[in-house]
Amino acid sequence: MSTRRLVVIGGVAAGMSAASRARRLDPDLEIIVLERGTNVSYGACGLPYFISGRIAHADDLIAHPASFFREKRNIDVRLEHEAIKIEPERSAVHALVKRSQPLAIQYDRLVLATGGAPHMSLPGSDRPNVFTLNDLDHAVHLRDFLDRQHPRKAVIIGSGYIGLEVADAFARRGIEVTIIERSGEVIDGLESEIADKLETTVASHGVKLHKGRAACTIAGPSNGPATHIEYGSGETTPCDLVLLATGLQPRTELATAAGIALGHTGAIAVDDRMQTNLPGIYAAGDCVETRHLVTGAPVYFPLGTTANKQGRVAGENAGGGHATFAGIVGTLVTKVFELEIGRTGLSLASARAAGLDADALTITGSSRVNYFDGKPLIVSLVWDRADGRLVGCQIAGEDAAAKRIDTAAVALHARMRLPDLLHLDLGYAPPFATVWEPLLIAAHEAHKKWKHNR
Ligand SMILES: Cc1cc2nc3c(=O)[nH]c(=O)nc-3n(C[C@H](O)[C@H](O)[C@H](O)COP(=O)(O)OP(=O)(O)OC[C@H]3O[C@@H](n4cnc5c(N)ncnc54)[C@H](O)[C@@H]3O)c2cc1C
Repeated sequence: MSTRRLVVIGGVAAGMSAASRARRLDPDLEIIVLERGTNVSYGACGLPYFISGRIAHADDLIAHPASFFREKRNIDVRLEHEAIKIEPERSAVHALVKRSQPLAIQYDRLVLATGGAPHMSLPGSDRPNVFTLNDLDHAVHLRDFLDRQHPRKAVIIGSGYIGLEVADAFARRGIEVTIIERSGEVIDGLESEIADKLETTVASHGVKLHKGRAACTIAGPSNGPATHIEYGSGETTPCDLVLLATGLQPRTELATAAGIALGHTGAIAVDDRMQTNLPGIYAAGDCVETRHLVTGAPVYFPLGTTANKQGRVAGENAGGGHATFAGIVGTLVTKVFELEIGRTGLSLASARAAGLDADALTITGSSRVNYFDGKPLIVSLVWDRADGRLVGCQIAGEDAAAKRIDTAAVALHARMRLPDLLHLDLGYAPPFATVWEPLLIAAHEAHKKWKHNR
């Protein structure tokens, strides 16, 4: 039986990838995308650069407007259409158009691509100068505030990669920044040498970092703007602006109400074809959990690169084809001021927490030869002592550092062991690297340590 109508809920990375892939597969399929916001297909990854002013206009972040999908791809994109209920037994989605007008749509296949929502649990989060940066509307709202109000002091709650990228953006605008981080770690799971380098970099740009301190309340006059953060100890930090960057939770309300099963992480559980437990219903992107290829366990690791790939797989299957999503190895790259960081796989602590007898080592090499202004490059490797298999890598430096992590990501996909890694034929010429690429130096040292200790 051919599929007649595909409905996609959510129109950003996963949703539009799914719709576009299904269209390529089946020119006759009717495809409707319900998006509750006013934009589709934009790059949320670019939002910090819009905040800094490096990207001048919000429109520059939009890959394709809704009209492109309607006119060029024959995809019926419906903005300001919020799906409020799924009735699997009747194959129907109920939506509210412009928050008021009810609409019911039948589907033959359904793709959920509802993304994730920021944690907003702190008292005072509803004050007018408290922001999140989860979508384009949030970014426009925040940038408008910056341009009009010219705040002098910002507090960022949370020091994940988004909090840090925005700290960089605020500092570039001349705003004094304080980051408050409840845990003792800046970007969860960095090896200590790389975390130290990151903290030094952030401090050298005047950004204050309060680690191991939990903000209790975003305080200010009744119904007025936030003026300070309270910690519960009596201490406070003044602010004219607060950004909540405390992480993401998968948006699963629609799914759970419809009987779609969640996994261990609390995100929607899917198989390798991105199919949920209900026939004909697929899910992809920041609303689902995925398999970590190093541990084999499900993880919630929301990233745009994953959302695009998963959306494509969901769209192919929902459109009548066959595709699978292999899983992830947890690769993340970011740039905070001049420091580039790349990480993939497990940190030493997370490998041990996963039950591996893991060991690690960190070296400092150079990004290129000295006469080409090579800069220090820190490389950490984590391996399983049982068989010498690589299980994690982190790389940091100010020059051509982050994308070097891709070699290690490939090694993780291939389940390479240290003896294999050190023989890799990686490119060398003075403008790009040193004769001994730092990753290979690290692999040699790790190999020696592994052989010695096993
Ligand atoms: C500031 C920032 C920087 C980032 N940087 C990077 C980066 O450098 N690299 C990287 O890989 N990733 C990055 N990401 C993550 C990446 O942007 C997300 O992983 C990606 O956008 C997820 O896509 P998605 O389609 O799953 O969800 P989303 O982008 O969240 O889209 C979900 C859409 O569904 C809509 N929706 C939800 N519920 C409903 C409903 N009931 N009815 C109708 N519509 C609904 C929402 O309005 C939303 O538009 C960044 C994210 C942010 C916020």
